[in-house]
Amino acid sequence: MAEKERLDELTGTREDLASIKNEAFSTVESCRTQEDIEAARVKLLGKKGLITGIFKSISGAEAEEKPVIGEIGNLLRELINEGLQAKSETMAEEALVASLAENEVDVTLPGRKTALGHKHLISQVIDEIVSIFLGLGYRIETGPEVELDYYNFEALNTPVYHPARSLQDTFYIQREDPEHDNSNDILLRTHTSPVQVRVMEASSPPLYVISPGKAYRRDEIDATHAAMFFQVEGFAVDKGLNMGHLKGTLEVFVRKLFGKDRKVRFRPHFFPFTEPSAEVDVSCFACDSAGCSVCKGSGWLEILGCGMIDPNVLKYVGYDPDEFTGFAFGMGAERVAMMRYGIEDLRVLTENDLRFLRQF
Ligand SMILES: [Zn+2]
Repeated sequence: MAEKERLDELTGTREDLASIKNEAFSTVESCRTQEDIEAARVKLLGKKGLITGIFKSISGAEAEEKPVIGEIGNLLRELINEGLQAKSETMAEEALVASLAENEVDVTLPGRKTALGHKHLISQVIDEIVSIFLGLGYRIETGPEVELDYYNFEALNTPVYHPARSLQDTFYIQREDPEHDNSNDILLRTHTSPVQVRVMEASSPPLYVISPGKAYRRDEIDATHAAMFFQVEGFAVDKGLNMGHLKGTLEVFVRKLFGKDRKVRFRPHFFPFTEPSAEVDVSCFACDSAGCSVCKGSGWLEILGCGMIDPNVLKYVGYDPDEFTGFAFGMGAERVAMMRYGIEDLRVLTENDLRFLRQF
């Protein structure tokens, strides 16, 4: 500490200044509290303090002594400031350690990590499916899960007494007549298709819509059936849409989701709200169609249902079927997730076992 040595050198032969210096240092050294420090600051550096006294003495000193006394005053002021600052910091640290010790905190322990969650597998699959269709220019629409019979069945070409109703085991909230279906009955939607009707009612073509959401059925719960499940529904209505557009769209989708070498296969099927209707298989991504346990030896995996929107559905929402045509498709998010990750029992998706969920 060069300043300290210089000060000792200058005060060596000047006893009065040396004793002021010693008093100043012992005052700093004796500070035990922040109050002591403030008092020392006043006593040493204040208007009537020791340092001010040193500077005042310059005027009465010998000419050759004046610069020496000035230098002593400056050095001493600097050292006092540093000393008080150091004292103050040490005290603050000690106070902190004391208060931590009082609260029994071990400051050497590593910090507690906050576990970061992540999206559920089903949400990830839905996001992925939806984002593929957003990339194709579709927009997202959703609808109510508590729905009117009209939107869930009737406007989807499944009127009261239509035999296709027996395909659906429905949770009813409120029925006008327990013996007979009625279009005003309130139910939990059995599929996401009512969104089609609601969107078509509220807007006009061209429409390219993707609609993810929950659906409910009174199924016996087992490895492949749940009372609540997620569907992703898509549909398009425009001038001149045909089966070729549907097939092309689904081929692009399937290759983006399952890999570019996947093939698709359409099998004729029946849905009340599409005509013609088909079920779509994708060539097995696990064995490349050779046959394996994932595809149960067939080389194909059933992935979704689809078809051209039935002209009757278009009429229900006031579209002219001679002017507009459309296609629709729907798939179960659970099914896509199960196929992709080889999950054999869909109940694991809702049991919230973190050991399972953390794998995705
Ligand atoms: Zn296979």
